[in-house]
Amino acid sequence: MEKLRDIISNSYNGYLKEIEHLVQKIHGTPELSEQETLACNLQVALLENWQFDVEKKYKGLDTAFNAAFGEGHPNICIMSEYDALPGIGHGCGHNLIAGVALGTGIILKELMAKNHLKGRVTVMGTPAEEKRGCKIDLIQAGALDEVDIVLMAHPSDHPTSQSMETAGIMQFLISFTGRSAHAAAAPEKGVNALDAVRLMFNGVDAWRQQLPETSRIHGVIKDGGKAPNIIPDYALADFYFRSFEMDFLLSMKERFKNIARGAALMTDTTVTIEEIKNTYKPGKPNLELNKAFMKLAEEYGMEPEWLAPSRASSDFGDVTYEVPAMHAYFNITGDKKDIVIHSSEFTQCASSPFAMEQMGKTSKILSQIGYMYLTQNDFRKKVQEDWNKTLNI
Ligand SMILES: [Zn+2]
Repeated sequence: MEKLRDIISNSYNGYLKEIEHLVQKIHGTPELSEQETLACNLQVALLENWQFDVEKKYKGLDTAFNAAFGEGHPNICIMSEYDALPGIGHGCGHNLIAGVALGTGIILKELMAKNHLKGRVTVMGTPAEEKRGCKIDLIQAGALDEVDIVLMAHPSDHPTSQSMETAGIMQFLISFTGRSAHAAAAPEKGVNALDAVRLMFNGVDAWRQQLPETSRIHGVIKDGGKAPNIIPDYALADFYFRSFEMDFLLSMKERFKNIARGAALMTDTTVTIEEIKNTYKPGKPNLELNKAFMKLAEEYGMEPEWLAPSRASSDFGDVTYEVPAMHAYFNITGDKKDIVIHSSEFTQCASSPFAMEQMGKTSKILSQIGYMYLTQNDFRKKVQEDWNKTLNI
């Protein structure tokens, strides 16, 4: 009997050129978050051509889509991202995420059709990862209600690795309002809003020492006044804070608000605290899906390594709370060890022959995991049990 791996390889070879062409086209035409029209249309056209049932402008988002093949359950969802970064184009390599999503989706569709397998494969186009995190809007609109697991893979400057735990993140804009006055002639008439921001940073720094190692807080001053001879009547700070635990993230919010209120009290200013949506939840990857990925990545010669949790954040974190999910990483920098993600050098790597090769291997691995999930009760059970355990359900 022909081995599954050979069947998958032969299948992928049939449309590898089509996918690589699309990935290069997205790379050559970078589009910013929520403006990814061409990237969205190219994927939609290709999936329609492969007899997927496609919904455009999914859940009311202009550059989102949902493409499904089959019906009922299990329903395996592969997520695609395709937004670029300002100035450096595909410096996060999201063109390759789209490639993996399409490759995996089509391989699984072909396997399902040939073997008359029960269930569904869904390729979901999720816009604006770099900016606003549209996965959260999609989740809130019910996009994952019918989905059983989510698989995705992201290019990396690190070794190929498992889906890592990621930090949840919140963003706040803090503005203080005082009263302007001539800083030399009549300072006693002024109420200094910049002083409130400075005291707020001091309060945050005093708090920092008592924060667990896994938390982060970082801020910038966006508006600190107009000129030294005017007491600033308005000042604005922008803060992010992060934690690996949702409960702790929420508790940070209360302490942070108190620091802002304290700074206002000390300076007689008024404070406005604006929570910016979307908060990203911490990422809680599924161990069973991770183990399957790492085993297969080893077999495919990708030299994977289990890496420590990432302190960065992603809107994929929210996905892990909805269903068992995996956001694996595949290396595309090879022996160029100095290249870091979000740089123009990484942009170049994202269209290299090595990146195409790694993208192909990753698509095959993800489709093999999908096939296991469709056909093995035992695997499905283990994946679900791990999800229940991780989220204390
Ligand atoms: Zn990215």
